[in-house]
Amino acid sequence: MKATTYYNGDADLEKLAGKTVAVIGYGSQGHAHALNLHESGIDVVVGLRRESSSWKEAESAGLRVFETAQAAAKGDIIMVLIPDQHQGTVYKESIEPHLTEGKALMFAHGFNIHFDEIVPPANVDVFMVAPKGPGHLVRRVYTEGSGVPCLFAIYQDATGEAKELALAYARAIGGTRAGVLETTFKEETETDLFGEQAVLCGGASELVKTGFEILVEAGYQPEIAYFECLHELKLIVDLMYEGGIERMYYSVSDTAEYGGLSRGTRVIDTDTKKRMKAILEEVQSGAFAKEWMDENRNGLPNLTRMRESLGDHQIETVGKELRSMMDWIK
Ligand code: NAD
Ligand code: MG
Repeated sequence: MKATTYYNGDADLEKLAGKTVAVIGYGSQGHAHALNLHESGIDVVVGLRRESSSWKEAESAGLRVFETAQAAAKGDIIMVLIPDQHQGTVYKESIEPHLTEGKALMFAHGFNIHFDEIVPPANVDVFMVAPKGPGHLVRRVYTEGSGVPCLFAIYQDATGEAKELALAYARAIGGTRAGVLETTFKEETETDLFGEQAVLCGGASELVKTGFEILVEAGYQPEIAYFECLHELKLIVDLMYEGGIERMYYSVSDTAEYGGLSRGTRVIDTDTKKRMKAILEEVQSGAFAKEWMDENRNGLPNLTRMRESLGDHQIETVGKELRSMMDWIK
């Protein structure tokens, strides 16, 4: 099934006229949403903890800042842009008491709604606008007159206006300048988790580490192994990003193309695919979400251990030295 794409002409900023948007959190996404909304003429308040180091920063950018509960009280639309693992607690303590009939609760990722960490009342709208890029890009591209593509999804439409509101919000942050696609909370959440686990963060970094280890164990210099297995990955990913896998193969040498096409399927074979599917199943069943929430409640023992062991890996120590030779990476 192919998704419909929505552009500026499909979104009416007037839908947000007279409404206040409370952006909770001023991190990667929060600062970009708050500033883009503000410059699109929307009434914005930012919600933060009193002790937050972002408080001053948001104020000096010309935004009105309040404690989270106060901002939630002021907001007709409450956009939750704090780390996913803290959203449940902050929602219970500071947002739910102010989530009165007809308001809208918004997210940029479906995790908490999809896995029932947050269960909103039936008389509010619940929807998502999720930029497909990090916050600094959402901000930069907006100031340049363009936008980052977004996904939007409606979970609950109590007012009958959820879709128009979501599209208006997407327009106000620049999303409809590029194009906005409709999804569901389930699809966005499950594909996002699978992608980061099996391909982007987990899959790619283990592929790099394993390649590095094989070369070093075979007696090659770790510096050379670093360049071949990690450093040059950026070049390849940039080519795929710009023109897909064919474009990448077009740009590398014929030798690299033949070697890659004939050997790649031996690295990622049907067994690998089976294991990747098992990872998707853990996401779909909620087993991963439960494990991650338990990990948070227990004080992150496993995450801390895994972070430490990665830090000790030779690819990280060698990489640190080599990157210090690269002036352009700062
Ligand atoms: P972040 O870690 O960059 O920002 C977190 C912000 O929340 C900070 O301002 C911090 O001060 C504040 N905060 C932390 N704990 C808080 C608390 N208990 N109470 C109030 N404020 C608190 O987060 P982010 O990466 O911008 O992610 C926000 C949401 O956007 C998440 O749902 C994430 O999945 C989603 N998202 C992120 C990206 C991305 O590229 N970073 C892309 C799309 C969607
Ligand atoms: Mg993601």
